Amino acid sequence: MFTEDFAHVRHWVFDLDNTLYPPAARLFDQIEVRMTDWVMQSLKVDRAEADRLRRHYWATYGTTLAGLMREHGVDPAPYLTDVHDISLDHLEQDTALAGHIRALPGRRIVYTNGSAPYAERVLAARGLSGLFDAVYGVEHAGFRPKPERAAFETIFAIDKLDPTTGAMFEDDSRNLTAPHAMGMRTVHVTPLVEPADHIHHHTDDLTGFLAKLIG
Ligand SMILES: [Mg+2]
Repeated sequence: MFTEDFAHVRHWVFDLDNTLYPPAARLFDQIEVRMTDWVMQSLKVDRAEADRLRRHYWATYGTTLAGLMREHGVDPAPYLTDVHDISLDHLEQDTALAGHIRALPGRRIVYTNGSAPYAERVLAARGLSGLFDAVYGVEHAGFRPKPERAAFETIFAIDKLDPTTGAMFEDDSRNLTAPHAMGMRTVHVTPLVEPADHIHHHTDDLTGFLAKLIG
């Protein structure tokens, strides 16, 4: 039974980008342009090389920022402010999603590889402000990103989260590996079905999924 899979859950963890808003909003396209510009300016490389480096950092370290910090000692704070300075005009309020999240029993948090101030802006644009007990960004994990297990452990320790009573909603399959290993229920939120041992559930419609879950 679908709802029985979540009957034990008292701690609901949501990724932000492409999870709490649909990928069709394409916010990440804007962020990627700003990340590439940042790499070009700070490393003095052309656009093609900056794009190649970004893909390399993402594949090797989980995020562009993690690669810039590890390989070039980049200061994360100004980087995070700059790359998240994007337009949210394409986001719409989602009152159905807000209602379903509000109905989830227990503690609800957001955990993003972006920054917490950016997450708060996105939540406001989606009509989801005030629904979460805490909003964590990469800065709360000492700038270590998901999918590193140490990053999850840091955030979950801060939030006093017991993974065995937790559920994680996330669009990046890699970021469900550690939560699954720690005992969480995992929900892959994406239009692309990628069956994997560390994914319990898949949905391309978070609002509809939560509606069924709360019954
Ligand atoms: Mg995401």
